[in-house]
Amino acid sequence: MTSGPSPRPSPKGEGGFVYRVGAGPGDPELLTLKAVKALERAEVVLCDELVSEGVLAYARPDARVVRVGKRGGRRSTPQGFIERLMIAEALAGRIVVRLKGGDPLVFGRGGEECGALARAGVPYEVVNGITSGLAAASALGIPLTHREAGPGAILVTGHDREGDTDWGALVRTGLPLVIYMGVARCEAIQRSLLDAGMMPSTPAAAVSNASRPQQVAIAARLDELPAALREAAIASPAILIIGEVARSALENRAAPPARAARLRR
Ligand code: SAH
Repeated sequence: MTSGPSPRPSPKGEGGFVYRVGAGPGDPELLTLKAVKALERAEVVLCDELVSEGVLAYARPDARVVRVGKRGGRRSTPQGFIERLMIAEALAGRIVVRLKGGDPLVFGRGGEECGALARAGVPYEVVNGITSGLAAASALGIPLTHREAGPGAILVTGHDREGDTDWGALVRTGLPLVIYMGVARCEAIQRSLLDAGMMPSTPAAAVSNASRPQQVAIAARLDELPAALREAAIASPAILIIGEVARSALENRAAPPARAARLRR
């Protein structure tokens, strides 16, 4: 038996506690047992927009669910407001789940939120989730690390502040790139990679809504990637995977692997 999350006593707000929980990529069956137990315990759930309704179904019926979504291009809840609300609820003695899409420490403002909790003296625990980059790779049967393709893989945002990412340096590592938040800037990314010397024939893949019923997955050569995204109408949230590890997906494009059957409870 796993022990499940067990809140330590709070020094300030008797019993208040924050779980920063990864909701995984969407399919509720990919939640961890710890995530489910934290949701069953939470009185307040502060929920990202990328979290699916099926995941929220595990929250207590009497839990207060606050959607504090942030989504590219749309109005988002200011980060400071989210942190203040999370801290205020915990200091009032409540059990709070801060529910993030994927893993809470992968492109999830994890550093800022954990820092704010620590400064406020609020006890917290991070509960991992399956990050969408891994779910996207699984959707196409891509082994992100492959002995013959190099010693690792790089997780990188495609939504960098202008010019922050040294794509040339990334290309020189020869490692596969798993690009989050990259669909809208796919053409600029493609140009940077080609300018840095990546071969136009490099295999690439894109998966939107990985693990959800509306999942769309494609594979294409790097030089064909923007056109392939348009053709398949791939939009955010989506992951791009670029590198030799995607070769099997490219070669199998006529017959992509079937989605795993849903496990029955
Ligand atoms: N913490 C999250 C990432 C948040 S950043 C995680 O670990 O997955 C938001 C980006 O994640 C999106 O723009 C998209 O690139 C990616 N993303 C989140 N859920 C996704 C999904 N189900 N399928 C594909 N990409 C997803």
